[in-house]
Amino acid sequence: MTTSSEWARAVKVIDGAGQVCLACHVRPDADALGSMLAVLHALASRPGGAEVIGSFGDVPFKVPAILRFLPGAELLTAPTKYPARPEVMLSFDAASVDRLGPLSGPASAAGELIVLDHHASNTRFGTINLVDPAAAATAVLAADLIDRLAIPLTEQIALGLYAGLVTDTGSFKFSATTPEVHELAARLLATGIDPGAVSRELYDRAPFTYIHMLASALARAVLERETVGGLGLVWTTVTRADRVQAGLSLDVAESVIDEIRRTDEAEVAVVLKEDDAGVWQVSMRSKSLVDVSAIATALGGGGHARAAGFSYTGGADEAIRAVRTLLDCA
Ligand code: 5GP
Ligand code: MN
Repeated sequence: MTTSSEWARAVKVIDGAGQVCLACHVRPDADALGSMLAVLHALASRPGGAEVIGSFGDVPFKVPAILRFLPGAELLTAPTKYPARPEVMLSFDAASVDRLGPLSGPASAAGELIVLDHHASNTRFGTINLVDPAAAATAVLAADLIDRLAIPLTEQIALGLYAGLVTDTGSFKFSATTPEVHELAARLLATGIDPGAVSRELYDRAPFTYIHMLASALARAVLERETVGGLGLVWTTVTRADRVQAGLSLDVAESVIDEIRRTDEAEVAVVLKEDDAGVWQVSMRSKSLVDVSAIATALGGGGHARAAGFSYTGGADEAIRAVRTLLDCA
């Protein structure tokens, strides 16, 4: 739990900085990018405030297609142009420094590194750690920081925070959806943002070719009733060929897990997505019993008890075998 003195130190460091450098984890989701963009807009709105730089370590540098509706994506800087030794750096939604990819170098060299995150596995790699595993999203912590900096919420700030809150609570469905989450959502909506437009962007649109990619992935889904001591595992793959055929980038495949995880007969759902370099980006979800973050961590990744992931270089068969072995010991 973050102490109030740590929050006060973060405010003091940011208030005194001439330049503030922001970064979120590689292959950002809406919580990582939305929280970072919200703080970017907030700091940039201060008259005479610090210069603000924001980035994430994807090379080539491309904002995921489904997040391009977030205001401020065009203000970002490529990681190759990021300061090597930032005076003050803020990290969003990264549980460990390696999740910043190429920006882990600047993070380690920064004068002050303020870490905002809600992963239980966070390694506290900052000089100031604003880490709360009970927070539903990093967006909750970013909102807290903006409030403590006494910066009023605008629509631009609210949109990033709201996108993060919606994504990490599964549209206010997951158990972390507390009264405080709804109170924050109410404050964000009061700025005038349109929740319908946000959910359409995040969940209710895709190119027509997505349907064929999804069909291929669903047709290959396997149900293993006996795995996880009889609790069941359902899994599938999205290959590079599926995506290339459909002309789709990897981020469009993120929602496949939400289709297969509804399977009644399986406590655990896994989707292995092959990226453009042939590496498998693996998403894992559980319903209520299995801690998938422990399994992802054992395989070099991390995450939360009910949603976790890791990268695997090798065959998809090998990757799922490794998962199965760990699940059967869980
Ligand atoms: P998703 O499956 O939506 O990509 O990720 C679910 C959760 O697992 C998120 O909290 C995300 O940060 C975490 N996660 C996904 N992939 C990785 C990974 O390769 N390494 C780590 N440390 N965490 C990951
Ligand atoms: Mn998050």
